[in-house]
Amino acid sequence: MALPAISDDLFCPACGYMLRGLTEYRCPECGRPFDPAKMVPEPIPWAKRNQLGRICAYLQTLFITTFSIYRLAEQVRRPVSYGDAQLFRWVTVVVAYAPCVLMILAFRPSSGSRLLFRGLYSGPPTMDPWTVTSVFAATLLALVVATGVPSYFFHPRWLDIERQNRGIAISTYACGPLGWTPLACVLGYVIAALVAMTGAAGLEDSARVAVASLLVVELLWWWFGLVYLSRRATGRGAAGVFVVALAGPLVWLLAVGLTLVAVRFLVVFPVLIYHSLRG
Ligand SMILES: [Zn+2]
Repeated sequence: MALPAISDDLFCPACGYMLRGLTEYRCPECGRPFDPAKMVPEPIPWAKRNQLGRICAYLQTLFITTFSIYRLAEQVRRPVSYGDAQLFRWVTVVVAYAPCVLMILAFRPSSGSRLLFRGLYSGPPTMDPWTVTSVFAATLLALVVATGVPSYFFHPRWLDIERQNRGIAISTYACGPLGWTPLACVLGYVIAALVAMTGAAGLEDSARVAVASLLVVELLWWWFGLVYLSRRATGRGAAGVFVVALAGPLVWLLAVGLTLVAVRFLVVFPVLIYHSLRG
C-alpha cells in the first residue's frame, strides 16, 4: 500500500538526500528508513495562537525569533503561513512603536522631558505640533517599511514558488527582536524616576546610553537573524550571505531615509502653504 507522498522539504538525516515526493519512507540514496512525522518541525507558536492564547503565543514566538533562530530556520521544511507572519509583523510594529510614543509624551511636560530624546527636543522649548506629528508619523512608517523590505532577499528565482513564499514568511518573523522594545522603555522610565527622585543628573547620560544600547542590540539581533536565515531559507552560498549582510543595512537605510524625507515633505509642505496663504 502506498503511503501519502511527503509534501515537506525533508532531507535524509544520513545522507542529506531530498525526500520530498516519496511515497515509500526509505531513502532511495542510502536505503535508511525514516519517519516523516518525527522530521517535520513543530509549527511556530504564533501559528497556534488560537490554542495557546495570543499573548502566550506572541511571547513564545518572541523568544524563538530572538534566542532560537535555528528553530525559525527549520520552518523552511514545512508550509509557513504568509498571513500569520504579516500579522506577527504588525503586532511587533505596534509593540515596538507604542511604548516609545508613550515615553516621549510622558516625559514631555515634566522636567525630564529632555531626558531620553534630547535630540528631539533641542528645538524650541515647546514643540510645534506639526513637528511632533511628522516625527511620530515618520517613525511609524519607517518601522513598517523596515520590517517589510528584508523579504526582498528571501525569494530568489532559483527556488520554487512554495519555497519563495516560505522564505518571505520566515524573513518577516525575523523582526521579532523589536518586540523587546517595551523593556527598553521600562528601563528608561525606571532610570528617569531615579533621576527625578535623587536629582542625580549624572544618571541622565546612563539612561540615554542604556535605552539606546538596547535598541541597537535589537537591530543587530534582527540583522544577524536575517543573515542567518538567508543562508538556511534560500540555500545561499557564503558570497550570497555576505551580500545580504552588506546590502540588508543599506536597503534599510535607504528605505527609512526615503520614508523620513517623504513624511517630512508631506507634513511640512502643506504647513508652509497654509502659513504663506495666511501671511
Ligand atoms: Zn539517505
